[in-house]
Amino acid sequence: MKSNVQLPTWLTDPVEHVAERTVVADDDRVAALVEEFGARGVRTVRGSYMDSSGVLRAKQAPLARLGAFNRSGLGASNSWAVFAADDLLCMTPSFSAVGDMRLRADLDALVDLGDGVAWVPLDLVDQDGEPMPFCPRQALRRQVVRAREEGVSILGATEVEWTMLDADGATLGGQAYGLSRLTQYEGFVAELSASLEAAGVPLEQLHAEYGPGQFELSVAPRNPLAAADLNTLVKVLISRSARRAGYRASFSPKPFFDAIGNGAHLHLSFQRDGRALLSGGAGPHGLTDEGAAILAAYVAHLPEAAGALASSVLSAVRLQPSTWSGAFACWGLENREAAVRFCAATSGNPHGANVEVKCVDPSANIYAAYAALVGVALAGLAAPTALPAEVTVDPALLSEEERATLGIVLVGADQVEVVDRFEGSALMAEVLGPALVEAMVAVRRHEADLVAAHGLEEIARRFTFAWSA
Ligand code: GLU
Ligand code: MG
Repeated sequence: MKSNVQLPTWLTDPVEHVAERTVVADDDRVAALVEEFGARGVRTVRGSYMDSSGVLRAKQAPLARLGAFNRSGLGASNSWAVFAADDLLCMTPSFSAVGDMRLRADLDALVDLGDGVAWVPLDLVDQDGEPMPFCPRQALRRQVVRAREEGVSILGATEVEWTMLDADGATLGGQAYGLSRLTQYEGFVAELSASLEAAGVPLEQLHAEYGPGQFELSVAPRNPLAAADLNTLVKVLISRSARRAGYRASFSPKPFFDAIGNGAHLHLSFQRDGRALLSGGAGPHGLTDEGAAILAAYVAHLPEAAGALASSVLSAVRLQPSTWSGAFACWGLENREAAVRFCAATSGNPHGANVEVKCVDPSANIYAAYAALVGVALAGLAAPTALPAEVTVDPALLSEEERATLGIVLVGADQVEVVDRFEGSALMAEVLGPALVEAMVAVRRHEADLVAAHGLEEIARRFTFAWSA
């Protein structure tokens, strides 16, 4: 793996400009990319689209077709948007066998994975190149552009948790946060570290997580579109490295029922005119009035946004109290049982104050998740509400009455309710667009039907690798 070639700017520049739609490259730029990636030994460009179930669907083309992959795109049926995690097409009034779209490679995000393969995220466009209304990556672009127009710039980073399984679906032990697990999986960890570095991923740390065979890594913050792409890229690299080392990586929210699940906590920070909104203010822990409005909006809207954050049937199994998953919609400074954990501007937080939304898990479409959270923050800024009382204890230790008095509700312990609330949310329809909401609701309802027909354990088993790459 050579490392002397320039990396894409979105990997190196935290706040790189986000275009309103995929840029169509001119011939010179395509030729330069083909030459550069060809010189690195790349022969194949593999594009991925994260569907409404959070599953990565893909098409690949020879490097020589890079220009066509971007300009015309590769063809696919619109119904790709209603693929469920078990591959059933969940047709709806807007999605049927009729209709065509193009998978357009975003060349600004092209990354060399090594071994002759480059990866690129895809935007969905129609045959005339217009964005499809149900494209999640496009929905995120819209929210980031909207934020910029309103003078707000945002940085995000996704924590990646995953579980290593061997060919029999079993996992090696090793203790939580244990050095022993890093040692047991040393070959895999070395392979992964090398591939992350070669791809230019701004890795910050990696450790053995609490659950059996569970790991976690974190990356540096980027603009929300780059943060979502980075999360996808990292899943691709983890999945590849695991296979090479003879294992499979599971991104299921709940690989084992009797153990802690996999989360995908999202950290977000906000600036207006170069000034942080989550620090330097007169509010609690340094919050500015606008920062407090953002936190208030998160607490208020997470139960309806959960449809974009944690809406698979396994999300609800993970999202239970006392599992550090952020089961309760409340906020608190460094409260790991609050869905909204506030991290203040201390020297221990070198990237500054940020809000960690803990209820998100890796079965979410990460583009829709970021779009939803940017949209909720903008809604909070547009119509501020009072910040609810801070919760300084594990909310599970409060009585039901105390929680009711404080207005603390569960984010999404019942998947059917999560999907219903999401479907009925005017805010989510505005932020994500009704077509994307329709597709996401259809595939998640199908998951509930599968559980009704086959039982949760069987579906959990079938979906162990549904969100792997
Ligand atoms: N694995 C936990 C989850 O399901 C999170 C543990 C942690 O706080 O990092 O979200
Ligand atoms: Mg963790």
